[in-house]
Amino acid sequence: MILPIYVYGQPVLRKIAEDIKPDYPQLNELIDNMFETMDRADGAGLAAPQIGLPIRVVVVDLDLLSDEFPEYKDFRKVYINAHVLEFEGEEESMEEGCLSLPGIHEAVKRKNKIHVTYLDRDFIEHDEWVEGYLARVMQHEFDHLEGKLYIDHISPLRKQMVKGKLNAMLKGKAHCTYRVKTIK
Ligand code: ZN
Repeated sequence: MILPIYVYGQPVLRKIAEDIKPDYPQLNELIDNMFETMDRADGAGLAAPQIGLPIRVVVVDLDLLSDEFPEYKDFRKVYINAHVLEFEGEEESMEEGCLSLPGIHEAVKRKNKIHVTYLDRDFIEHDEWVEGYLARVMQHEFDHLEGKLYIDHISPLRKQMVKGKLNAMLKGKAHCTYRVKTIK
């Protein structure tokens, strides 16, 4: 089932998301719905707060980038109770977008290496160092679990430049091809 995506201004996007237990109600169905919702919106990642749930569940699909990054062929994963423990390496700047901020793209500086812990769909624990494009996508998605958006990382000047679009979202105007839920 395709779910509406919560847009900038929705308080859930600013909440710190909670870990869940394996008996979380209809978890499998929720994960399937998150993948379907992300696919419909052509996203590379979707975090549960973006569908209105303040829980630590993220889906990522990098297969759509596999022309450019062959190592991500068939890369489609769910991260449960995800946490970033350490940031390392060089800072790199790359343009990002977000399904909760339709119509905006801005360059964001992030570290290129991170230490993460998460559970997979079978609730098996993983503790990994991640690099490259995946490290960027994870930082963007896991930020959502801390109530952060990528625009929090851009300069005050750039933020000023996108203010009009952000204000329009607060007034219920979001121009995109997928279903959204604005605050108005
Ligand atoms: Zn996002």
